[in-house]
Amino acid sequence: MDSATRSDLLKLFKSKLNRAMRFYLETCTRCGVCTEACHVHASMGQTRYTAAYRHELVRRIYKKYFKTRGRVWPSVGEARALDDMSLQELHDAAYSCTGCRRCVVYCPFGIDTQMIMSIAKLLLVGAGTEPEMLTLLADTSIEKGKSLELYKDLFLQGIEKLEGEVVKKWHAEAGASVIPVDVQGADLLYVALAGAHSIIPAAAVFNAAGENWTLSFFEAVNFGAFVGDPTRTRLILDRIINEAKRLQVKEVCICECGTAFRVMKQLSGTQPFNVSSITEVQARYLREKRIAVDPDRISEPVTYHDPCQLARNGGVIDEARYILKRLAADFRDMTADPQYNWCCGGGGGLVALGEETLDFRMKSAQVKVDQVKATGAAILATACENCHTQLRNLNDHYKMNVEVRFLSSMVADALVPAG
Ligand code: SF4
Ligand code: SF4
Repeated sequence: MDSATRSDLLKLFKSKLNRAMRFYLETCTRCGVCTEACHVHASMGQTRYTAAYRHELVRRIYKKYFKTRGRVWPSVGEARALDDMSLQELHDAAYSCTGCRRCVVYCPFGIDTQMIMSIAKLLLVGAGTEPEMLTLLADTSIEKGKSLELYKDLFLQGIEKLEGEVVKKWHAEAGASVIPVDVQGADLLYVALAGAHSIIPAAAVFNAAGENWTLSFFEAVNFGAFVGDPTRTRLILDRIINEAKRLQVKEVCICECGTAFRVMKQLSGTQPFNVSSITEVQARYLREKRIAVDPDRISEPVTYHDPCQLARNGGVIDEARYILKRLAADFRDMTADPQYNWCCGGGGGLVALGEETLDFRMKSAQVKVDQVKATGAAILATACENCHTQLRNLNDHYKMNVEVRFLSSMVADALVPAG
């Protein structure tokens, strides 16, 4: 690594050093409480998979360049130079961490591994050594947003086909309002993922609730956040914020994508609209009796996997249980306290990297598999696309014999006339 590159990377490092980050980097007492908290370490062993080890890789570079003792006396200050080898170690640490923040719940100081790993990911982006696929996906998403007019007609044609499916399955009245798009003054803007599975069940529930809603032109997923690039994250996020402002909606509802929800909730700032997840909205409809579900529709035992970005990191925990207790006679929680629920092992961009990470994802999620099996459930529900893919992979790999389902589609399938 030449000195100009190092200097540029250290500027990126410095840009992350706010008060909270300095606290995280200066506080660890190496007590080891977080060791067993990480699903990767709990499943695979190896010190390099503990939260504290991951922190230490970043902390030593911090000491070398941003602390006097590390600069003057590196061997005593446990400082480490930023070079190609340390960059490779940061890559291994950042892309074996799903950012689930289970370790944060255990740490007495709340040291945030996800935040510390965001430094590692930013340095990798700066050096051009991040997983190329994630940047490619982020750029494709940004380009699509720039030339919306090119995609608009195709998008609307696709929506027309989906409307037919909603009409057929839920006997909705055919017409322009089955999946409304670009409705000025709608109350709720729904931001979906690409694919019928993210749009059709949601549409059925919105319509059953009599919601004044409209579908976003943009996809919810934020690959900028997966790759840890603040600029790309912002560009992808701002498209949705601008659309919500243009349409003057009161609420932006994010589909079953934990990262998209967390990013929108935490980074959108003060806006003239509220941000909610579809799980929260569907629980609200049930509470307000705007929709009703058949309580006898599901007779098999059901359990629920908390998506980390939605639950531990987004605060949406009780809503899924509220829904499931009305949908299934035999709901079995897999954990006494959902704050401590195990990660599925697919977050942080690992699922988006597909086959490349499959072996690691399977090995690092053994504790999740054991947890699911212990419930004896036949249906494993979740509310995140990423988790859904990972859980299906685990189901195939470990022969868990469960049916992995999206919570929103379970609600849609159980709809009965309200009142
Ligand atoms: S954030 Fe999750 S994956 Fe990363 S070190 Fe902590 S527990 Fe492990
Ligand atoms: S629990 Fe917190 S203080 Fe203890 S080793 Fe882990 S990060 Fe450091």
